[in-house]
Amino acid sequence: MARPALIVHGGAGPVPEAERGLRQAAVERARDAGWSAISRGALAAAVAAVRHMEDEPLLNAGIGACLNSDGEVELDAGVMEGANLRAGGAACLRDVRHPIDLAVAVMEDGRHVLLAAAGASRFAREHGVQMADPSIFITDRKRQELMQGADTVGAVARDGEGRLAVAVSTGGVKGKLPGRIGDSPIPGAGLYVDDRFGGVCGTGLGEAFIRLGLARLMVVELQHGMDAASVAQGAIDHLTKTLKAPGGAIVIPREGSPCAAFNTPAMPWAMAE
Ligand code: ASP
Repeated sequence: MARPALIVHGGAGPVPEAERGLRQAAVERARDAGWSAISRGALAAAVAAVRHMEDEPLLNAGIGACLNSDGEVELDAGVMEGANLRAGGAACLRDVRHPIDLAVAVMEDGRHVLLAAAGASRFAREHGVQMADPSIFITDRKRQELMQGADTVGAVARDGEGRLAVAVSTGGVKGKLPGRIGDSPIPGAGLYVDDRFGGVCGTGLGEAFIRLGLARLMVVELQHGMDAASVAQGAIDHLTKTLKAPGGAIVIPREGSPCAAFNTPAMPWAMAE
């Protein structure tokens, strides 16, 4: 038997001081939603937390996500299970109500790891994933236009059987070029998990996470016996020193408590164990 644990974050992007308490409260609600699903397994818990955050307008995922340079919302999401290294991702989505649901469907289908744009939407429709009019993601165009930088929501969970899972969802970075895909749906970049060592999820400048292969690097460090707090802090130091990029990370090791690190002024996060 393992000790269940869950850690959830709401992004390491720059946010107005006045929003910080509200974003922290939204992340705590997501932690509660995820924790109430932990008896159904790590995947169910991580997905429930992220699915909740896709509906929190202040967080940069799903409803209320940031806008690209055309003033449109394009969403990415990813999921991974540590028992069998199954992974699924979906990117550049405009009309999928819950991008994380599509990431799970891609993983469960098993033929591919990452689907994007029109093909991803078609796959969603064919697999009964709920669709949406793209306009529903824009709740307050002014606020979404003023969002700065980047953000993501993510969760890592460990269930009572020692299975680990990670789920991530994001609007990406504000003003991105249409068609840009970040690190969040890419295993090894924005998320990675292996039950033998632990699971991690990142937030921050996706291009930097992709170039450093940061999520995979973190799990390799867990594999080599580094403790989770040093892995999280070391990854963020690497991000800062090597590419001067903003970001944060959450980690759950195979055994032991979750931890978080970031190099930005704030990253709302919450955990349960
Ligand atoms: N990593 C996300 C992206 O680049 C954004 C973020 O987490 O801040 O798409």
